[in-house]
Amino acid sequence: MTPSKTSVFISGATGYIVKHIIDQLLSKGYTVVGALRSTDKGEKLLKQFKSNKKLSYEVVPSLEKTGAFDDALIKHPEVTIFLHSASPVTFTSQDPVNDIFLPAVEGTKNVLTAIIKHVPQVTNVVMTSSIAAVINTYKIESPGFQYDEDPWNPILANDATKSGFWAYKASKAHAEALARSFVEKEKSNFKLTTICPSFVFGPQLFDDDVVETMNFSAEVINTLLKLNKDDEIPMTYSSYIDVRDTAKAHIVGFENENCHGKRLIISEEKFETNEILKLIHDSYPQFKNKIPQPGEIDVEKLEGAPTLINDTSKELVGFEFIKLDRLVTDTVDQFLRCQS
Ligand code: NAP
Repeated sequence: MTPSKTSVFISGATGYIVKHIIDQLLSKGYTVVGALRSTDKGEKLLKQFKSNKKLSYEVVPSLEKTGAFDDALIKHPEVTIFLHSASPVTFTSQDPVNDIFLPAVEGTKNVLTAIIKHVPQVTNVVMTSSIAAVINTYKIESPGFQYDEDPWNPILANDATKSGFWAYKASKAHAEALARSFVEKEKSNFKLTTICPSFVFGPQLFDDDVVETMNFSAEVINTLLKLNKDDEIPMTYSSYIDVRDTAKAHIVGFENENCHGKRLIISEEKFETNEILKLIHDSYPQFKNKIPQPGEIDVEKLEGAPTLINDTSKELVGFEFIKLDRLVTDTVDQFLRCQS
């Protein structure tokens, strides 16, 4: 595969993770067509990437409408790689089935159907799934569970009616399962790689995307920087992965033959909020009297959080993941730059 001659189509081109993917693809010489929801968003994207000649966009207003990707793909017979990342990323909704679950699942069906119909020469599809498709939502509060690349979250589609949180988990599990069974049933020409990242954070690709409230995972660190000294600390016990590594894994997902067809858990290690606060206080004395001091790390709670056993995925992708200290420093540096 010669990057300078390869054209990659990517859905969700306005997204936090996808902008990093586009940036890395362009740096490697790929041509990129991004799908997004409006011309305004497309023009902003082109401006952010300084009108790079290898980047263009197509407007796909709604993921869930039958045939949503048909027109966009008919225009791009040169595409041989498809990265599908667009999906609603929120836990809040008054109408979780229509706002979250259906766009994710129907969107995936529309993408794959359009590929086999209009760009059958596509050799690889890489889809952004999530550890939400792996970790059993019914057992999320029970300590001590371990997950490798095999298990599937048994969440029911019907659970999506319960709340935005349930709809998000169900949307990721059902969209990935649909993609896997589609490939099997349709005997598609392409290989499907699914990327299951844990909590993704780290800097925005562009400083002008650092806004008051960002996507929930990108907000983890910035929320802490906006706290007052005596505020309660919003605690998270989970596993993290830097956004730049998440992006890189999508590219390795199609470039590296060993990853073709695989389900990859992209995650470095567990974290809890006090660790992040400590890293901030250790490197940035200006926050000393501004934000809460870290408490003791609750080892029991941290150990009880779902454990991801992803040695196989780490070996397959073949690169070292960024550690929490660098991730935090790069994010705080960007926050400070944007405040000044
Ligand atoms: P993001 O910044 O919110 O990006 C989501 C993208 O999907 C945006 O381009 C958004 O378009 C598009 N989108 C959402 N709903 C849509 C709809 N109904 N129709 C058309 N487009 C829609 O979030 P992200 O964190 O980069 O997430 C990207 C992918 O990674 C998602 O599949 C997500 O589930 C997955 N993921 C994220 C995390 C994490 O911690 N962030 C972890 C695991 C997996 P607009 O800009 O127009 O809204």
